[in-house]
Amino acid sequence: MNWYELRGDQVEERVNTSVATGLSEGDVKARQAKFGKNELKETNKQSALVLFLSQFKDFMVLVLIGATIISGLLGEYVDAIAIVAIVILNGILGFVQETRAEKSLQALKEFAAPQVTVRRNGNWIKVASKDIVVGDVIKFSSGDRIGADIRVIQATSLYIEESALTGESVPVQKKEQAINGSHIGLGDQENMAFMGTMVTRGSGMGIVVATGMKTAMGQIADLLQSAEVMITPLQRKLEQLGKILIVLALGLTALVVLLGIYQGHNMYHMFLAGVSLAVAAIPEGLPAIVTVALSLGVQRMIKKRAIVRKLQAVETLGCASVICSDKTGTMTQNKMMVTHVWSAGELWNVNGKGYEPVGEFFKGDKVINPTTSRSLYQMLTFGYLCNNTEIINRKKEFILDGDPTEGALVVAARKAGITRESLATQYEVIHEFPFDSARKMMSVIVKDRNGKKYVVTKGAPDVILNISNGVLWNDQLRVMTKEYKDRIQETIHTLGSNALRTIAIAYKPLPQTARSVTEKDAENQLTFVGIQGMIDPPRPEVKQAVQECREAGIKTVMITGDHKITATAIAKQLSILPEGGRVLEGNDLTNMSVEDLEGVVDDTYVFARVSPEHKLKIVKAFQNKGHIVAMTGDGVNDAPAIKSADIGISMGISGTDVAKEASALVLLDDNFATIKAAIKEGRNIYENIRKFIRYLLASNVGEILVMLFALMLTLPLPLVPIQILLVNLVTDGLPAMALGLDSPEGDVMKRKPRNPKEGIFARSLGWKIISRGFMIGIVTLIAFVITYNQNPNDLTYAQTVAFATLVFSQLIIVFDCRSERSIFHRNPFQNIYLVGAVIISACVMLAVIYYPPLQVIFNTVSIKARDWLLISGLAALPTFLLVGALFSKKKEERNA
Ligand code: ATP
Repeated sequence: MNWYELRGDQVEERVNTSVATGLSEGDVKARQAKFGKNELKETNKQSALVLFLSQFKDFMVLVLIGATIISGLLGEYVDAIAIVAIVILNGILGFVQETRAEKSLQALKEFAAPQVTVRRNGNWIKVASKDIVVGDVIKFSSGDRIGADIRVIQATSLYIEESALTGESVPVQKKEQAINGSHIGLGDQENMAFMGTMVTRGSGMGIVVATGMKTAMGQIADLLQSAEVMITPLQRKLEQLGKILIVLALGLTALVVLLGIYQGHNMYHMFLAGVSLAVAAIPEGLPAIVTVALSLGVQRMIKKRAIVRKLQAVETLGCASVICSDKTGTMTQNKMMVTHVWSAGELWNVNGKGYEPVGEFFKGDKVINPTTSRSLYQMLTFGYLCNNTEIINRKKEFILDGDPTEGALVVAARKAGITRESLATQYEVIHEFPFDSARKMMSVIVKDRNGKKYVVTKGAPDVILNISNGVLWNDQLRVMTKEYKDRIQETIHTLGSNALRTIAIAYKPLPQTARSVTEKDAENQLTFVGIQGMIDPPRPEVKQAVQECREAGIKTVMITGDHKITATAIAKQLSILPEGGRVLEGNDLTNMSVEDLEGVVDDTYVFARVSPEHKLKIVKAFQNKGHIVAMTGDGVNDAPAIKSADIGISMGISGTDVAKEASALVLLDDNFATIKAAIKEGRNIYENIRKFIRYLLASNVGEILVMLFALMLTLPLPLVPIQILLVNLVTDGLPAMALGLDSPEGDVMKRKPRNPKEGIFARSLGWKIISRGFMIGIVTLIAFVITYNQNPNDLTYAQTVAFATLVFSQLIIVFDCRSERSIFHRNPFQNIYLVGAVIISACVMLAVIYYPPLQVIFNTVSIKARDWLLISGLAALPTFLLVGALFSKKKEERNA
């Protein structure tokens, strides 16, 4: 079927739909049931069984399983079964962690999936791209990613970039007419929009003719299945560290085994002890726990309305030192309302509430009838004419359908009784040059009742002033002189200093004979009519967020297409712009090289009247100065800057698909304060990862050292293999996971941003691990030696006491790991998951020590009450001794 050969009405008929009303929900359900979802199939997905089995593919785990089989053959059934059980439990834990991580990443993908504007039952609604079916009527505009194969039936300056499909990166202009020919390539099907391609300019509407694997993209989908592996720098570093740790752990266990054999211990027992030790000491679970911590953090970010698209952003967020944020909608509410209209030296005020089209016009403090002033009425009429936005009255609420700036102009016009219908009786819009933020204006060509054609343009006043050679003054056309220019500039200044966003309106008649008018021809030699000024109040929470960022060592920079004066006024209100801070304009940037900009960028807080291409320069200049830059954006042209920023941020509500796809973070509410919340969460996640690395490694060091020290002192082994494995499963696993869920320390947003080059063991983490691990080893050994000396004939009793001391010293030190400072800086009961994990671990240990059937398996005996005094005293020692030492060191430093 060559859809491009059919006319629009033929397509409607063929797929049984109506452009006027779209499909009904019933149609959609039936078609979905029959043809399935609009999705490309994923081919290389790992099955659950493979994932589960992969938990056992670690070399040391395999050796352990082999050793267990041998011990089974040697008749040590209990040991063998217990070890197998623990190994399986460990595997299950790893499997659960990995599937959890996988699931939350999957959920994220769905969260970030693109939406499509579709006509259903006559209404335009937004649905997930996967829910559209053949016959759906879809509307799309600049920045949208096309969600299915569509026959275009309406195109307004519509350009689509199809490189994903054809390799051709120059956008193709699309049209509506049918094309003749039976073998036309995809690149030449100019009335088709294909799944996966993106709209770079203009807007259009069309009918879906193919979905899912039936689309042109679906046909080549197999080629595209390059499974994107999301691995963050931290995960990579940990992977490298893991390798080093394996060598280290194996070296040390080999030492333990050789020492043991040399001292005459049973060779087979030493071998099993060595393998168990290796399994326990190798932090094979670390990458999985890190992924879980990252993805749980990501879930928390969703609750704070920030969606992470690239996992590594979670880490980079904690390093951000500059946030470059758009003003409109991100720092302000984007709920615009026209309050001032100026034309030919006259100023009117308008009142009202939000988008409700009810309000009065004033001249000074006198209410006036807007229809009696010709220039005011013309300003309002033109503002509505050159406009694609509507205000819809739904259940007594006035809802904006379109762009807020345009919405404000619509509402102002409707307050004067002008409606779309009344306009339509006087003017017909025959062509449109859509708004884009590089030109900062938009124009329409209209024909009035007498067949006369005009260009009507609206846009940034300074830009419009530049292309106007006339001005409408008291209903008369005058040449634009310096005096008029000064008056207009003065007005821009006055309105801007009141933080008003300004839009100018201009027009020009076109010669009757003018046929096709280009954008360039239309947008020059205009007649300036006037300016409308609108409020866009700052979001109330932004000022505080800017302040908190400052305390966290993060600079906030405002980047806006708006006028310098307006931007400055709002930046001052939000305390972004300090006394003496610099404001640069797009024009300045055009003339500056990146190196020039580097020289001033540190004092600059506001960039006004910038175009999207300036943003890239700004990012580069800050990066060259050593900053980690977060940059927001929403349009197609913002994508390069978003991509090259360290953290590209896009807007969930107003952002285009292209911007979203380029970004690492999407703000669901478009709100600046959400960036701050995400940074805080990012810092916390990193700290939590540090916390459990510290805990896990310190515990492992302790386990190895106690064995090593005992053998060096020619003592019997203080722990038996099965005990070591249990410690690894219960005490290490659960509390470490709970640390990943910890809340941030109170001062997390009072610290400077983290240096991205900092290693895992930076900020004395390495020292903390070794000193704590050393202490755990020593106290366990002391407990063992004391008890063994008291009961030289009862090795099992001494081993049980050593086992208890090891476990409880770990369960105490875990609370110290919650703080970068010390255990006393945090309420230990605040993290209920940790308290729960510690209680569970402690109960398991007590059961193993006191429950007779478990005693047989784990080689334990009941510990006498008085020995608990010894155990608890020694177990608390590593935490408190080191904390004490730390305090005295701090004191010394302070005194010095
Ligand atoms: P930010 O970058 O902070 O979001 P912005 O929304 O002001 O700022 P742009 O959308 O690039 O940035 O707008 C730049 C200027 O273009 C505005 O100050 C306004 O004068 C003008 N403008 C904005 N929207 C329209 C529109 N729909 N039609 C005509 N002119 C517009």
